[in-house]
Amino acid sequence: MSAAVDIQNVSFAYGESVAVRDVSLTIDEGDFLGLIGPNGSGKTTLLHLMLGLHSPDSGSIDLFGEPVDEFEAGERIGYVSQQATSRGGTMPVTVREAVTMGRFAHAGFGRLSDADEEIVDDALETVDISDLENRRVNQLSGGQRQRAYIARALASEADLLALDEPTVGVDAESRDEFYQLLDSLNDSGITIVLIEHDIGVVTDRADHIACINQELYHHGDTESFVESDALAAAYGSTGQVVHHHH
Ligand code: ADP
Repeated sequence: MSAAVDIQNVSFAYGESVAVRDVSLTIDEGDFLGLIGPNGSGKTTLLHLMLGLHSPDSGSIDLFGEPVDEFEAGERIGYVSQQATSRGGTMPVTVREAVTMGRFAHAGFGRLSDADEEIVDDALETVDISDLENRRVNQLSGGQRQRAYIARALASEADLLALDEPTVGVDAESRDEFYQLLDSLNDSGITIVLIEHDIGVVTDRADHIACINQELYHHGDTESFVESDALAAAYGSTGQVVHHHH
C-alpha cells in the first residue's frame, strides 16, 4: 500500500527566507495527523507543498504513490483553507451548488446524473446542512461554511482531507461537533491532515503528530509526542502553546 503523502527531504524558502528545512514525513492512508508548531513555523507552507500549491526547492513529494506535480486526481484531495471560515471572497453560490462542484469531475463536467445528485444529498446530510442547501455560502456562519467545504470534499469522494486551522472563529460547541465529524470521517477511512493551534484538540483527536518549526522536531504517535520534549523544543520560549481543557 502506498502512503497518502510521502515527503522526502523537502526544503522551501520564500526568496531568502527559509520556511521548511529538510522535512521528511510519511502519512499513511487512513491516518489522522495533527500538524503543529508555533506561529510562522511553516505549517501552512508544508500543507501547500503537500497539495502542490508550491514546488519544493529540493526534495520530493508523492501523493498516493505519484509525484505531486503529476498527480491528476485532484478530486481525491479536499482542502479547507484558513480563509474558509471568513466571508470575504466566497462566491455567491448556494450551498448545494458549491457541493455539486465537488461532483463535476465524476460527472465528466456534464449534467449530474440522479446517482450524482444522490451523492450530493448524502454529503449534505453527513455534515448536517441539508436544511441550508439553498442558502448562499457567503451567508453562512463560519462553522456552517466549513461543513459546506467538507460536504464538497465528500461529494468528490476525497481520500485525503487537509484542513488549516478549520475552527478559527467558530464557537466552542460547533467546534466540538466539527471535530466529532472529522473523527467519523476518519473512521470511514479518509486520511486527515489537520493544522490546529490548540494542542489539546490535537492530542485528543489525532493518531499521529508532526511538530515542526522549519525542521521536523517530532513525528510519531500521540503518546510518544506527549512524553517527548518536542513541544518545548519546537516552541522554545515563544509562549504560544495553547492548551484547551475540556
Ligand atoms: P505557519 O502556518 O506555521 O504559521 P507559514 O507557513 O504561514 O507558517 O509561514 C512560514 C514562514 O514563511 C513565516 O516566516 C512566514 O512569514 C513566511 N511566509 C509565509 N508566506 C509567505 C509569503 N507568501 N511570502 C513570504 N514569506 C512568507
